[in-house]
Amino acid sequence: MKLQARWIALAAIAAHAAGCSPLQEPPARAPTPRSVAVDDALVQFSLVAALAAGDYVAGPTLGEVLTQGDFGVGTFSRLAGEMIVLEGAIYQAHVDGTIHRVSLDDTTPFAAVKFFTEDGRIEGLAAPSLDVLDRRLDEQLARRNVPYAIRIDGEFAALTLRSVAAQSPPFKPLVDVVKQQVTWSHQNVRGTLVGLRCPPWVGTLNVAGYHWHFLSDDRQIGGHVLACELSRGTLRYDECSSLVLHLPRSREFDEFDAGLIDKGQIDQIERQRVPAAPR
Ligand SMILES: [Zn+2]
Repeated sequence: MKLQARWIALAAIAAHAAGCSPLQEPPARAPTPRSVAVDDALVQFSLVAALAAGDYVAGPTLGEVLTQGDFGVGTFSRLAGEMIVLEGAIYQAHVDGTIHRVSLDDTTPFAAVKFFTEDGRIEGLAAPSLDVLDRRLDEQLARRNVPYAIRIDGEFAALTLRSVAAQSPPFKPLVDVVKQQVTWSHQNVRGTLVGLRCPPWVGTLNVAGYHWHFLSDDRQIGGHVLACELSRGTLRYDECSSLVLHLPRSREFDEFDAGLIDKGQIDQIERQRVPAAPR
């Protein structure tokens, strides 16, 4: 008996040395499940490529979007206008140029948001055009391989904005929808540019480069920005440490062919530039 007990003890020590727990010991504590760390994340719902391919339905509610960020851009179910997310509120820039607050039960096929926490600012910024603005920011926001959320509050001498009309099935690709975009121009408006700059490596997941939406201080003017002349403003930026992609659970998403969409089409849709309207 005594010999047998010693043999079991030796077996237990050997098992322990081999990295196994002996049966007699309480089981090692299992790792505690926890949510994945998404520190300082840009959170996007669906892919720009899926939107470009015509996936304009389903997606999360706007209430769910606001649980992931208080700042960002996007669109609405059936592509019903441009989305501006600012200070925790979602604004819908309709194709007729009007701005409405939304029902949080509405849904979005694409949005990219984050909780804006300022990492730095540039005071007294001015730029005669969107292209010049982009180039200046390329020089000053040095980390080219991380996404930035960018907010510019100021006085705009000129702005050209666009929105698109709600679509009906069968949906056309977005590159065809924006051929019917409605544009309008404004002069001397105070407001906020709500922008994202994504690194080149996002490819067609999001918009590589700058993507600007606008909302006026009086919340009467807004849309996707095609041209702007910034007289003077303050830029605040927020570097993102993570990128979170929420993938849709829809038949349309399952069936979309990512290979049909290239970066040139995304640029045509989201990075068009037009000459500023004459004043
Ligand atoms: Zn846009």
